[in-house]
Parts: sequence; C-alpha cells; structure tokens
Amino acid sequence: MEPLRVVVLAGGVGGARFVRGLRAHLRSLDGPSADVTVVANTGDDVWLAGLRVTPDLDSLLYTLAGVNDETRGWGRAEETERVAGELAAFGVGWPWFTLGDLDLGTCVARTSMLRDGLPLSAAVQRLAARWPIGVRLLPATDDEVETHVLTDEGELHFEEWWVRTRAALPARAFVQPGVEAARPAPGVVEAIRDADVVLLAPSNPVVSIGTILTIPGIREALAATPAPVVGLSPVIGGSVVRGMADACLTAIGVATDAGAIAQHYGPRSAGGVLDGWLVDEVDAAALPALAAAGIRAGAVPLWMTDDMATAAMAAAALRLAREPR
Ligand code: GDP
Ligand code: CA
Repeated sequence: MEPLRVVVLAGGVGGARFVRGLRAHLRSLDGPSADVTVVANTGDDVWLAGLRVTPDLDSLLYTLAGVNDETRGWGRAEETERVAGELAAFGVGWPWFTLGDLDLGTCVARTSMLRDGLPLSAAVQRLAARWPIGVRLLPATDDEVETHVLTDEGELHFEEWWVRTRAALPARAFVQPGVEAARPAPGVVEAIRDADVVLLAPSNPVVSIGTILTIPGIREALAATPAPVVGLSPVIGGSVVRGMADACLTAIGVATDAGAIAQHYGPRSAGGVLDGWLVDEVDAAALPALAAAGIRAGAVPLWMTDDMATAAMAAAALRLAREPR
C-alpha cells in the first residue's frame, strides 16, 4: 500500500496545532507512514533589524519540533530576551515586536542562508533538518510577498496592524503588493496535484489561508487536483476561539460564522476551493445550507485542546474526504 499523501494549507499557531494533531492521528494508524506536506503562509514575513522573520513557518517548525512555548502560544520555550533589550536600547527594530534570543537565533540562521543565495524553501528545509518534525514544510512561495493592511492611518505591514494596534484600527482591505508576479515555491503545486487529500487547517481564513490562495497557481492547483479538499472551521459558535481573526473577517465582509466562512471559500463545483467542511457540533445548524451549496459538511468537536482532541478532528476531516462525492 502506498502511503497516504496529505497536503495541509496552514497559518501559524492554529495551523501548527492542527498539523501536530494530524501527525498524531497518522502515527496511530497501522500501515505505511503517511506523507504530509504543509504549505505555510508567508504573508506575515517581514524584514526587521536586518533579519528575515517568518512567523508562521517558525510557529510550525517550533510546534512540530516540540520546542515551542505552549502557554504563550508563539516562539520558543524557555526563552530569554537579552538581545531584544539591546536592540531596543539602540532603537533598532519595532519596540512592540519582541523576539526572544532563541527565536532570533533562527532568524539569524535563516537570513544567513538567504544571504548565501538559498531560496526560502531551501532555508526552511535546512532549518527543519535539525529536528525530526515528520512532515515536509514548504513556504507557499519563495518570493517576498507580504500582507499589508489598508487603514485610515495609511498602509501598514500586517504585523504592525496585528501586534502594535492589536487589530483595533479598522482594516479597509488586505493587500499583497507584488503578488501577481509571485510563484508557488517548488513542490507546492506538485504536492497538491499528487495528493490523496488536501486539508485547509482551522487557520485565519483571510490572512493565513486567504493569503496562500492569492499566490498565482495555488488556487488553480486546488481547482485541478483529483484529491478532495476539506477544510476545518476556525470559528466555533460565532467566536474565533483564540486571537483577533474576527477583525480580518469583518474587513472583508464575511461574518464570524462557521457556515459563512465555508460559503466564502466556496464549493469547488462552482469555482471555489472546498469539497468538504467541518464545523463544530454547536454549529450543526449550518449543515443543510452547506449541503445545498454543494459542500459536504459534518459537525464534530473542533476544540484543539490537546493532541488527542486535535487528532480526532484530523481523523474526521480525512473521513469526510473519503465520503463518496
Ligand atoms: P496565526 O498565523 O498564528 O494567526 O495562526 P493561524 O492562522 O494558523 O490560526 C489562527 C486561527 O486558529 C484563529 O484565528 C482561530 O480562529 C483558530 N483557532 C485557534 N484555536 C482553535 C481551536 O482550538 N479550534 C479551532 N477550530 N480553531 C482554532
Ligand atoms: Ca500568521
């Protein structure tokens, strides 16, 4: 039997927790080990203090390596901030965007690889080789395409809007300047084409999954793949569970609602990206409308409280993907 080929489109913290649960589920199965490719959002990436910072890739890397700070939700465990103190004293970087010493070590290593001429995808592969993360981690693109937020105070980098203003400044739109010229990183389109199943992690639909989908070629690859595409709702009972993703949804005119997000992604049969969609049990009322729209939907617990609970979500998504169309 061939290993099951799974592709996951993912943002940072939500994506990382989901992939860790998926990995736990797949490891619990008998048979050949599965082949998982994670396509990570790079829209949050930024040059800061001379370093290339890639927040979502690093959240995935640290979480899958088991070196993440579980309580804080981002960055490395047992972190210190001595370098950040020095940078602040010199007035370098953003004072409201603190990276710990270990995290900065990753950024220095990555930047050094990029300066040596490696594309981001090759740098990620080298960084990931340090730990047995058990999945192939790919940036959505090697091109420097960053998400900017249009506000009444001007155009801000996504991280500035998210971290400095805590998403409180109303967003008028999210844009990715230069995205028309970007291409998917090597292996992304091929992985989607050759997959047995494609999953959309319960990540931010606007600035994580949405940004991945703006890269020319990725939406087309999802439309063309013979594999079923199944997403999991990042919204439970009208709430985004953790974080401020509702501010992003509001800005693009989508309700903070599990069914509305699926309708926003749209059914593949009508030019969208979804064959299937999982909502939490409290949102089961959304199922009939989704079925009518051509999206196979199911309701299961979607709280990623621990790996066991998240593994059950991943198993349910794979089951939904296997249901006959
Ligand atoms: P980020 O890049 O670090 O913001 O992470 P992602 O975009 O990958 O995921 C963030 C989203 O995950 C949040 O907006 C939440 O809606 C969602 N999320 C967080 N925890 C949970 C959970 O336990 N269950 C579900 N269904 N969604 C969650
Ligand atoms: Ca992110």
